[in-house]
Amino acid sequence: MIKELVVKQRNYFLSKETRDYKYRKNALNKLRQAINEYEPMLKDALMYDLGKNEAESYFAEIGIVLKELTYIEKHLKKLMKNKKVKTHLVDFPARSFISPHPYGVVLVISPWNYPVMLSLCPVIGAIAAGNTVILKPSEFSAKTSEVLKEMINSTFNDEYVKVVTGGISTNQELLDQKLDYIFFTGSTNVGKIVMEKAAKNLTPISLELGGKSPVLVTKDANVKVAAKRIAFGKYLNAGQTCVAPDYLFIHESKKTEFVKYFDEALKQFFGDNPIKSKDFGKIINDKHYTRLLNLMEDEEAVIGGVTDDSLRKISPTLLDNITYQSKIMQEEIFGPILPMITYENIDQCINYINKNPNPLALYLFTSSKETEERVLNECNFGGGCINDTIMQVASDYLPFGGVGESGMGSYHGKASFDTFSHFRSILKKSTKIDVQARYAPYTKAKEKLTKMILK
Ligand code: NAD
Repeated sequence: MIKELVVKQRNYFLSKETRDYKYRKNALNKLRQAINEYEPMLKDALMYDLGKNEAESYFAEIGIVLKELTYIEKHLKKLMKNKKVKTHLVDFPARSFISPHPYGVVLVISPWNYPVMLSLCPVIGAIAAGNTVILKPSEFSAKTSEVLKEMINSTFNDEYVKVVTGGISTNQELLDQKLDYIFFTGSTNVGKIVMEKAAKNLTPISLELGGKSPVLVTKDANVKVAAKRIAFGKYLNAGQTCVAPDYLFIHESKKTEFVKYFDEALKQFFGDNPIKSKDFGKIINDKHYTRLLNLMEDEEAVIGGVTDDSLRKISPTLLDNITYQSKIMQEEIFGPILPMITYENIDQCINYINKNPNPLALYLFTSSKETEERVLNECNFGGGCINDTIMQVASDYLPFGGVGESGMGSYHGKASFDTFSHFRSILKKSTKIDVQARYAPYTKAKEKLTKMILK
């Protein structure tokens, strides 16, 4: 069935229907209407799968998708236009332009943590760029995946945009097809499998992966603001956010103050019993819940550490006395546990970050311009914030993506259109004049002329 679907989509792509501006615009509009219609069902499913409350489901998932749609709809005509560039004297007489062209059949594979946003944002980019799309959402956020399936498959024809559900075997079958672009969001390990599969057909890919994203609080930082913004970024979606701060470097002189403000912020957000708070989510499944319990076993929780097996919840937790050798520092946490490491000198943090895989995000809380420049110059990471966490993801004007182990390629806003387009460089030559210098026989005079032009 998957093989036939790919053939069907490729034939449809070759029919050229999807390339027309009005067709793309209409498809984006249909998607907007579908999202509006399915908003209550999507919210229910997100509550069921992840315990996300309605407001969070809107501002961290559905709202972000609608915002991406608005940007793309507004700029689509301009994005689709050929871009004129200069022509070198060597090509005289001619003009040159760069022309975006869709790839063809795009496969989008998405994870379970933001199942609506991470499925639909790439789909918007792929549609805008004129492709057909197969979306394979995660089997772990099963209810949301079912709603997405019903929503998309009742809105679009199979040969244009289609949701396919299933587990790893479905993914493998999809990846075994000859596709024209693969957009994968998920773990670094599975990213490697996807890249290996893509290599067989030299299919271009984007890999949106994860990793351990550090947050640094320096001695000159506004600690009260830092504590609040770190608590927000860490505990949104119960820490199951790819760009959540994974671990904290705090200057030793600021630790006590930080813990006090962090505790205050958490009480303000979730009350005295966060496990019972409707604003605090649950862990996706038993496997991840057990993994997280194991990571914090034997560690000292200065805040939180309360668990509830029946709700699959771990209260917002801050761990003290963590070392680089601690179990929790060996893998991406992806849960509501923040390990804290104190430092004396910023070099310690920079050295540690550079010795480990490139993080997807880095957050720095400081008021020192010099520290800011050092960290930006010396560390390699996907993107991040100075004096905030995770909000870089919400901007249409900031391409989002990782580097090295945290991924390749980027999207959001213009970058979404660009990712799903191949940019062809075209030289349009006049036939009126035909400069002879490039044609044999090659004389001294011709060489002299070439020397004047090529330098
Ligand atoms: P995952 O890699 O386990 O799964 C992602 C997708 O890959 C799912 O749809 C799953 O069905 C599929 N998959 C799993 N095993 C596979 C295999 N062997 N072969 C082919 N396909 C397979 O990731 P996850 O647990 O769903 O998500 C968590 C990870 O994703 C974290 O590492 C997180 O940092 C990362 N993430 C990154 C971003 C980003 O935008 N960079 C966003 C969200 C999550």
